[in-house]
Amino acid sequence: MNLNWDEITGETVRHLQALIRIPTVNPPGNEKPAAEYLAGVLAAEGYDPAVLESAPGRGNVVARYRGSGEAPPLLLLSHLDVVPVEPEKWERDPFGGEVVDGYVWGRGALDMKFATAMQLETMLLLARQKLPLKRDVIFAATADEEAGGLYGIGYLVDHHLEKIRAEYALTEFGGFPIRVGGKRLYLCQVAEKGICWVRMRARGTPGHGSVPHRDNAVVKLAEAVAKLGRATLPFHRTDAVAGMVEGMAAALGGLQGAVLRGVLNPALSSFVLRRAIRDPQQVHYFHALLHNTVSPTVLRAGSKTNVIPSEAEAELDGRILPGQDLGSFLAEVRAVVGDGFEFEPIMVAPPVATDHRTPLFAAMAEGLRRHDPEAMAVVPMMVTGGTDAKHLARVGIPCYGFTPVQLPPEMNFMQMIHGHNERIPVAGLSFGVRVLYEVVVGFCQNTCLHISKKRGEE
Ligand SMILES: [Zn+2]
Repeated sequence: MNLNWDEITGETVRHLQALIRIPTVNPPGNEKPAAEYLAGVLAAEGYDPAVLESAPGRGNVVARYRGSGEAPPLLLLSHLDVVPVEPEKWERDPFGGEVVDGYVWGRGALDMKFATAMQLETMLLLARQKLPLKRDVIFAATADEEAGGLYGIGYLVDHHLEKIRAEYALTEFGGFPIRVGGKRLYLCQVAEKGICWVRMRARGTPGHGSVPHRDNAVVKLAEAVAKLGRATLPFHRTDAVAGMVEGMAAALGGLQGAVLRGVLNPALSSFVLRRAIRDPQQVHYFHALLHNTVSPTVLRAGSKTNVIPSEAEAELDGRILPGQDLGSFLAEVRAVVGDGFEFEPIMVAPPVATDHRTPLFAAMAEGLRRHDPEAMAVVPMMVTGGTDAKHLARVGIPCYGFTPVQLPPEMNFMQMIHGHNERIPVAGLSFGVRVLYEVVVGFCQNTCLHISKKRGEE
């Protein structure tokens, strides 16, 4: 059966508009009406969707297209919640879902209701085509990603794992273009940094503020915080970042490419970062991709001006690369601040890394190139913050960021997603739904692609 992609695009746009018009700002989230909307659409086409509530109003919806079971399932995961808006800064109603001049406007248009709509459309097409697949395709649209995912994918992992267990998951961030050296590259998230939030405590001798002495906890802590602020923790090369830099360097070519490759050389890295990359934000981002980082964020000491307190503490926001853990992170911090401090973890979450040299990654790259012949490459990407991939990593489900979309050169996906006037070009959505559908079908029809040898983190 031939597919009419204009009609399919129109239908995807209508589902996206409907989702934008259901406000799911988190907090409080209140994703249940959106989950019920999706369940209604899926049920009408023969699915047996489950709406699973993690707390009152916090809805998650899961549905499954049955394959032959010759290979394990593929999970299409999206989140239904969105971040808050400042409506007065918008040119259009953020919850209006209007289509104006070829764009669908609204909070969640890019993060990430467009992906929910594309994944839904993929499920609808599978059901209508009755395609024989070797794998099940699981659809999960969940609550709470923007606040850590505990009421969303975290809840499903803890309470309904059998419903979402898969060999791979496709979710944010990736499949969107960036321009490097005048060429178009697509990014695909394969890794994210881990979290090491710790409390650092200094102890000293208490006393009267009128008689200063050398063992003041406040001063000791302040010195340590200042050292951390100036320090660069050691360089670490990871697979994901090496793949990303190689891809960008190849696009740049020539001398520029060679210079960029220098960031992967421990001896040259910091020099290249300082000299070769102009944009300070880019420098900070690349720095964070090549090092564990630590940001002192909270200070606490003393309660009275004339009393030298016996202790002082700082909270540190530590972020660690794949291959690192709390112990290796604290060793790096101690090497900067010296002895005499106590460390107590506040929250620790391990880093996530998925190998990008897999048949699925290759299928995504091929799908993008088939519909965008100008695409130079698909490069792996690491994010410095946390996403829902962390919850899936807990149970060994590797994730790729893959929600394909085409954007005009002036639109920067990552800047747009939590900003004002979030919107998506209908043409970009049309490209995305087609690429996603073809990649899903291609991957799930072909058991040769089932090698399932997950290489660990480097
Ligand atoms: Zn998101």
